[in-house]
Order: sequence, then C-alpha cells, then structure tokens
Amino acid sequence: MARIVMKFGGTSMAGIERIRHVANLVKREAEAGNQVAVVVSAMAGETDRLIQFCREASLLYDPREYDVVVASGEQVTSGLLAITLQGMGLNARSYMGWQLPVRTSAAHSAALIEGIDVDALNRVFDGGGIAVIPGFQGVAADGSLATLGRGGSDTSAVALAAAMKADRCDIYTDVDGVYTTDPRIVPRARKLNVITYEEMLELASVGAKVLQTRSVGLAMREKMPLRVLSSFEDRPGTMVVSDEELEGMNMERQLITGIAYDKNEARISLLGLSDKPGTVAAIFAPLAKANVNVDMIVQSVAREGEKRDLTFTVPTAALAQSVDTLTRAKEAIGFDEIITDMNVVKVSAVGVGMRSNAGIAARMFEALADRGINILAIATSEIKVSVLIPEEYTELAVRVLHTAYGLDAETEA
Ligand code: ADP
Ligand code: ASP
Ligand code: MG
Repeated sequence: MARIVMKFGGTSMAGIERIRHVANLVKREAEAGNQVAVVVSAMAGETDRLIQFCREASLLYDPREYDVVVASGEQVTSGLLAITLQGMGLNARSYMGWQLPVRTSAAHSAALIEGIDVDALNRVFDGGGIAVIPGFQGVAADGSLATLGRGGSDTSAVALAAAMKADRCDIYTDVDGVYTTDPRIVPRARKLNVITYEEMLELASVGAKVLQTRSVGLAMREKMPLRVLSSFEDRPGTMVVSDEELEGMNMERQLITGIAYDKNEARISLLGLSDKPGTVAAIFAPLAKANVNVDMIVQSVAREGEKRDLTFTVPTAALAQSVDTLTRAKEAIGFDEIITDMNVVKVSAVGVGMRSNAGIAARMFEALADRGINILAIATSEIKVSVLIPEEYTELAVRVLHTAYGLDAETEA
C-alpha cells in the first residue's frame, strides 16, 4: 500500500465525461490498495473566464474579492469529482481549502502555503475513503480565501503530498511528460524519461508551464518523488528526481536539457539617463518597493559626460504599475524618455552542461543570427542562457535552438 497524491489539470477536468475518466484513474489507484488524495484544477479556461469577470467589474479590483471569485473554479470540479466517484460506489468526499485547512499567507492572488492540517485526511484514509481537494486555494490567518497564483494547483498537490507524507505525487496533465521544449510548438520535441529537480526548476522558472515553479522547488526541498504523466494516455511519463538518484541510474547526461519561452515579459527602456553613481539605484529602489520583479537588465555604455540608456524587463502584468512608479520618480532618477514594449518574448536554454562547457551561449547567438533574429537583451546564470527577442519570432527561435542544441527527435511527437 502506498500513499499518493494525484493532481489533475484543467484539460483533464474539462467536462463531465473527462471527470468520469479521471474518476476511473482514481478508482484504479484506490482499488490497488493505495490511500489516495486527489487535487484538482478548475475546468480548462475557467480561471481565465473568472479573472475576466473581475476585470470587467472593476479594473482596480480588490485582491481579496478576486480570490473569492477565482477560487470557485476548483470548488466546482472537486465537488463534481466527489459526486462522480460516489456514483461509482467509492467512498469519496471533497474538502475545501478552508476545511482542512490549507493555511496560507495573506498575499491575495499570490499566497504562499504555510501549512496543511492533515488530521481530517488521516481520518478519511483510516475509514478507507478518498479525499478530493481543490487546488490553487487556501485560507489566510484572517479567515479569508486566498489563491496561490496561476498554475498553483501543482503547488497545492506537492504541499499536500509533503504534509501527508505521501510516497509520491503524480501530476496528470494534457501531455505525457516533460519534453525538451513545449511539444505544442515543436513537434520534434523529445519526451524526457527523467529530469532532475534542479533542471526542472530552472525550466519552469523560465516559462515551461508544465509544472509551476514553486511546486518544483517544494518537491526538491521535501525530496518528494514527482511524476508528470498524461491523464489521457496510459504511458510512463517523466520522473523528476534528485541529482544523486540520476547519477545512480547511470544515464547519459545531456549538455542542454531543454528550451523554454516566456511571453509574460515586457520591456522598459529609460533613455537619456545621466551617467552618475546612484542613477540605477534610483530606478530600481522604487520598483522594488512596489514589489515589481525586475528580470533582465542591459545598460548602454556612455562616453565621458554623455547620457546613457537602460533597458530591463518586468512581468507584463506589472508594466502599467512600473511605468507609473518610474514616471512619479522621474525627477529623482533624471531621464528624458520612457519606452515600453509588450511584444517581446524571453527564450531560454537550460542545462547543467553549461557549467563545464564554454560556447553554449555563443551557439545560441549564432543560431539566432543565422535566422536574422535580433537580440534585445541577454541574461545568463549557472545553468541557463536567456535572450529577449521580438515576440513574432517565438516559434522560429525555439525551433532553431532546439535543432542547434541537437535536441530534435527522429520522429514527430
Ligand atoms: P495543466 O492544466 O494540466 O496544469 P498546463 O497547461 O499548466 O496543464 O501545462 C501543460 C502544458 O505545458 C502542455 O500542454 C504544454 O503545452 C506546456 N509545456 C510547455 N513546456 C513544456 C515542456 N517542456 N514539456 C511539456 N509540456 C510543456
Ligand atoms: N486554475 C488555476 C489556473 O488556471 C490553478 C491551476 O490550474 O493550477 O491558474
Ligand atoms: Mg498547470
């Protein structure tokens, strides 16, 4: 007997027929003698629809009320799955975030899980039952509903698995595992049988949305075995493992693990900055105070006494606020003009091989240059190289880099 968490994403929960299919997968695990907790997402498209309602109601909506609205999508699917399981003769019950409870911080719309009470779940398991839990939601200390940020059900699942000391956490989605890049835009993407937490964390953080970044970080810290698999096809999926486990498997390590892209970046350029100490601090301090996460930064070099420019990226959702903050600080910073661009994408290559191999970034720049793709900004870290390019080149750039790093599969997925 094992204790497992099964998480089902939005596409897997989209409609009663699919929920019935999910119920069959849950039944199979329960009948194999496992203790099962199921974490569900809202139906595909539902969270987007609910967010749109909030925007229509008021552009400056209150995040606490936003959470009340968007958390409802998961409430619906968890109830429906419990009903479906009961209809199949199984002993299933849903438990909302506030009922367990899943305790979170008060950062509405981007709350962090602080702890999960599993007493109720242990009683369910003792009675041979199945628990169905809505992902993405929890309750803050003041009793208000809180949601975890987009894609947060993955984090709900991993946090729950850790709290109930599960043997593993299975993430069922609409692809049959983690690929070398998004298989929806590169048909020759290759499925990875295993990937390390570290590589997955980096891939997720630069845009591979198959797992929410925080869920991977949590799984790594908790050493929670994680599996990504299809809810539609009965295939083995991808195991996310530690570095040591991978060593033990004696597998050949790839230089580059994969390519990811992120359209959720906007570019801001400040032109005509004076070339003196303190200018950069005057720009980024107010942004930090406004909780804006600045990502890539490029500064032009100025000749003695001349003005210079600074370009950086922020999440698209924070663009308006960033421009407002900078405009208000214009006097203190001292710049001539502010230019913004939302039609940009960050494309990144990730791989532990970068630690020991020079020339990986150069190969990227060459491959993009061959196709006439202009690079607007560059950022590198120990196992990642990212470039900012015009959004219209997203697919071309991802494909070209996938080929340049020798990642293409022989046949299309
Ligand atoms: P869910 O609703 O199940 O949480 P998501 O849409 O959040 O599913 O994540 C699955 C999607 O992630 C896939 O449909 C795929 O298009 C995308 N994706 C992006 N990068 C990758 C990758 N490297 N491997 C697999 N899928 C990826
Ligand atoms: N429904 C939420 C979203 O679409 C959470 C999730 O599915 O993980 O972001
Ligand atoms: Mg997701």
